[in-house]
Formats: sequence, structure tokens, C-alpha cells
Amino acid sequence: MARGTRLELVGALVGEYARVPTINDHTHVIAEPDRLRRDLDALAYLAHPYVASDLLASGMTAADLRFATGSEGDLAPPDDRPPPGPLDARWARVAPFWARIRHGGFARCLLEGWDATFGIPDLDASTVGELSARIRAARVPGHYRQVLHDEANIKVSLVQMTGTYGEDIAEVDRTLFLPVPRLNRFTMVRRRADLEALESELAIPLRTLDALDDAMAGCAVRWKAAGAPAIKLSQSYHRAMDFDMPDHTGATRALRTVWDGGYPGLDSAPGRVLEDWLVDAAVRAATAARLPVEFHVGPRAGIYGTLEGTFLAPMAPFLRRHRDALFDISHAGFPALREAAVLAKTFANVYLNLSWLHIYSPQACIDALQEWVQMVPVNKVLGFGDDLYWVDTIHGHLRIARRNVAFAMAGLVEDGVIRERDAVEIGRALFHDNPAAFYGIR
Ligand SMILES: [Zn+2]
Repeated sequence: MARGTRLELVGALVGEYARVPTINDHTHVIAEPDRLRRDLDALAYLAHPYVASDLLASGMTAADLRFATGSEGDLAPPDDRPPPGPLDARWARVAPFWARIRHGGFARCLLEGWDATFGIPDLDASTVGELSARIRAARVPGHYRQVLHDEANIKVSLVQMTGTYGEDIAEVDRTLFLPVPRLNRFTMVRRRADLEALESELAIPLRTLDALDDAMAGCAVRWKAAGAPAIKLSQSYHRAMDFDMPDHTGATRALRTVWDGGYPGLDSAPGRVLEDWLVDAAVRAATAARLPVEFHVGPRAGIYGTLEGTFLAPMAPFLRRHRDALFDISHAGFPALREAAVLAKTFANVYLNLSWLHIYSPQACIDALQEWVQMVPVNKVLGFGDDLYWVDTIHGHLRIARRNVAFAMAGLVEDGVIRERDAVEIGRALFHDNPAAFYGIR
């Protein structure tokens, strides 16, 4: 690599990282057949929850957002969608708010993705029409492979089983994707109907803790055999990560009230006792099947989310109890990245996952990586997960991620902390070798 300035070093490193077949370890990509049923245009992309929440937080009303984006970008089943209004009227509605968020990571991710896929690097009155035309022209089978494999150099993407997929393993194109199923429905019991639905799907009774334990263990074994690389849990969307010691007696009592009446719901003292027991069982089930457990620990998508689930430190006793488990801490406990890094530094079973964060706060990623390289074993960082719906934006996110890592490493090279060849090796570890080893992907 020949260079003079820092930007030239960044450019050279980005080039090196682009040659690494990347493991994208966290995506919510919409299944391609579903995508092909949708008539997306540029403004429909603004309905994605991340950029949509930025627009709403900037002051746009929900009604204006819906008018501007239309309904093609919604995740509701793609039937009965009213046609969107005229594109110029929709653009006029969103333009003042777009100006407020366009420098944020979520908006930049869109722009980077559109630039990468459609060759148009900006969204304004002069580009929204042509960009929309190019998006429509790419609504063809094979677009996913072209973007993810051919252009972005993504080796495999780990798809969260949710949205259009459900929580169990669904069919995905195994040449591009691996499924990551969830145990959320087993562990977050809100009402009797939740368990009844699981009973009828699995065709087994779930009246006792043992039955739930066995069912989760069975799922884990079946999912492992079906090629799942991990199991996901999402407790932090409703609570702090302060799981107590499992209380079999209390959980048995709570489960009985689910079935017999009187259960006050998940966010209650009995609900918590039941959940703590079930989460413990879920981790045991995954670990027995040699599957890592992915915990969302970080900010919540959407608006008006509270932050109690973002902190990893309350989970320390739980993590210490499960030393034989492997924990993928998705979103690395942002904004408390340093707190999470202490646990990754001192717990052999804790790995920090940068999914979502490269666009949530590009600067936080750069700063954290500079610290982590000097603090946390380098194998403990999982470098990229897009957390998005549309393939074009996945490539945009990856371009930002490569640049964040390059900026972080270039700074360390300039400061004499690491050598250039270390910067190349660390990038390869983050984008490929670490997730490959962690999830057992060859
Ligand atoms: Zn996610």
C-alpha cells in the first residue's frame, strides 16, 4: 500500500477490506419473492423503520410519512396496497425533513446503497425520479445475488427469522443466506394464547416447565441439524437484562396461572420469574446443541423506546453462570460500549457484535474500535451485520462499515499503535475470520 495522507491510507484499507468475503451476521432482509411483489421506488425506502424513525423524530408527522413513502415498503403482507400519490408531491412532503436527517448514519446508508447499486449518490428533486426508475428496473430475480454476492462480496448473510419468515427456520436461499431462528415465543409468555399457538404448531402439550424445556431443546437440536448458526433472543425490547437465578417453584406457579387464569402478563413479578426460568432453559438448550445465543443488547428500533435494555452489565451474573455458552451481544450494548467491552475483555463467552452500529453511530464505532483493539482480544469482535430489509442498503451499510474500520485502524497506524499489516489482518478478522469461527461457517 503506497500512500501519503491519512485519507489515502483509509482508501487503501477500504480496498483491502472489500476483498474480504464478508460474513454478514445479522440481517432482516426481506425474502426475494416478497421483494419481487413490491413496487418499491426511492421514497418507499424511507418507510424502513430506521430512517422512518429519524424522520418522525425530526418532526415529520406519521400521516405525512405515510403519504411520502406509500405502502410498498411496509412489511404487512403485500396485498391491498393503495397506489402512492404523485412522486413530486411525495418528495415535496418529505424534503424538509430529509434535509434534517440526511447526514445521519441511517440516511447515509440509503445514499451509499443507492450509489453502489444504481450509481446515484444523492436524493433530491432532480434525482428522485431517475433513482426510482432504476430501482424499478432492478426488480428482477437474481438482483439479490448480484448485489450481495457479486457486488458487495458478502459470503453469507445470517437472516433473522422474523417478519415475513416467522420465528422457526424458514426456507432461505442457502447459497446466500443462513437462517437464525428465535426462541422469543417460548421465553416471552404474554398470555395463554401464546402457548396455545405454540402447542398447536408443534403438536405437543406445553403445560409444564419440563415440557417447555424439552420443546426448546428439541428445537435447538432440529435447528442445528438444519444448519442454523445461532439462536436469537430479544428480551431487551421489554426489560433490563438482569436475569435472576432460575426459580423452579416460582416459575411453576406462574406457568400454572398462565393456563388456569390469573396470569398478570409478562411485565409483572410472576411474568419475570417465568421468563427468567425460560431464558435460562433457552440458553441451556442452545448450548447443548452447540449453538451460540444471540442476545439483542442495545437500543430499540422505532421511536420512544426506553433504554433499560441497552446495558450489558446487569447480565454479568447470568453470563458468568453460563460459562459453557457462547454469547453474541448484538449491538454491543450501545450506548454503553465501554461497559460491554469490559465484559468481552474478561468473560471468555462474551463477543461484541457491531451489527446495526456502523450506521446507528458511525463515530461511536470508530472510537470503540480504536479502544477495543487495545483492550479486548481481537477475536471477540464480530464486525458487520446490516440489520436491514433491502439488499441495496445492505451494500450501503457494508461500505460505511468498511470505512469506519479503515478510519479506526488508520488512526492507530498513524499513532504508531499498530502496523499497516495489522490493520489489514484486523479487518479480515472482523469481517470474516471472527464470525466464521464463532458461528462455525466455513
Ligand atoms: Zn436486528
